[in-house]
Amino acid sequence: MINILIATGNAHKFREIERVMSNFTGLNIIYLDESFQVEIIENGKTYKENAKIKAEGYLKFLNENAKLKSELRLDYIVSEDSGLEVNCLGNLPGLFTARYAGENASDAENINKLLDTMRAKKDCAENRHAEFVCFACLYDMKRDKFQYLDGRVKGLISHEISGAKGFGYDPVFFVPELGKTVAQIELSEKNKISHRAIAFRKVVEAIKEIERF
Ligand code: IMP
Repeated sequence: MINILIATGNAHKFREIERVMSNFTGLNIIYLDESFQVEIIENGKTYKENAKIKAEGYLKFLNENAKLKSELRLDYIVSEDSGLEVNCLGNLPGLFTARYAGENASDAENINKLLDTMRAKKDCAENRHAEFVCFACLYDMKRDKFQYLDGRVKGLISHEISGAKGFGYDPVFFVPELGKTVAQIELSEKNKISHRAIAFRKVVEAIKEIERF
């Protein structure tokens, strides 16, 4: 078994990633829930930098908790940073997606801020194009090496909230090919198209390449 720690405290992200990676045999997917207080200061200038900061934060945490580290016998730590880029807003909120309406803002507050900002901007009346971006950082414990894998999905920001599945901006991210927002589809459907699923399928391919299986 190859032991892989998914370095996120976000249970929604973990669920999505686990479903993608568990399609492949031989991978043991591990998650440390919120009770493990891993301190991450997300002050990178790019998604890539932030993804690396998260992987390094978990590595530091494990080095400070030697017993846990030896129990987990990890081969890889994988983190990710993601965001929403809205064309008529000059690709904002981008790196600030999680805290668009302020530090610790709820999903509803972030969505309301996005819809209000778009309502107030003339360009956004017609141009609703947006993209979700995900950068995964794969840290190889044995070889002490970092690799980055990305994924993107294009869509439109709807005028209204629709659906209750998923998380974050899913209720306003409309996928024209499906005629639905991401919050109106099942996780299995989201995992066919999402930025995160695309990036994490590449992560699995990268691990396969290293491990030659
Ligand atoms: P971060 O990667 O922790 O900085 O957070 C990225 C933020 O982007 C999340 O808190 C969500 O608000 C948003 N986001 C990222 N991926 C998704 C997604 O799949 N659906 C909806 N919102 C997302």
